[in-house]
Amino acid sequence: MDGRTDGQMAGSWMDGQMDGRMDKKISSTLATGMAQGKGVMAIADDLNDVVKKIGITRARMMARTEVISAHAEATLNTYEEARVTGVELLSEFTTAEDNKVCPKCEELAGTRYTPSEARGIIPVHPNCRCAWVPSIDDASQVELR
Ligand SMILES: [Zn+2]
Repeated sequence: MDGRTDGQMAGSWMDGQMDGRMDKKISSTLATGMAQGKGVMAIADDLNDVVKKIGITRARMMARTEVISAHAEATLNTYEEARVTGVELLSEFTTAEDNKVCPKCEELAGTRYTPSEARGIIPVHPNCRCAWVPSIDDASQVELR
């Protein structure tokens, strides 16, 4: 497991950004929106309705970052499942590769981790657009049919 407790949303990027009650409201709105398959903009609108003082810009940042986080963790789950079948997949850090990539993410680009080491790294910061791509540890392990 990755250390999160049930019902708790959001990775370390969210720590210290808010307190108790507001945190719960935001978490449940993010969770509900994602469970309903809503897009970032729709989830951000919900957040903006539920937490009045949040503002649409911050709501969009949170929705975007939470969706990236969920996507990254789901990707790692897939890699872990592949390892069970004997394919030693590593997770390789990739950025959006444009001129908006921050120096911190740029530095991580191309770094390879085991899926469990990779947990919680993405998003590196709010609005992070990075993702994991599969990387095969040892090409000789892959059987071609
Ligand atoms: Zn990034």
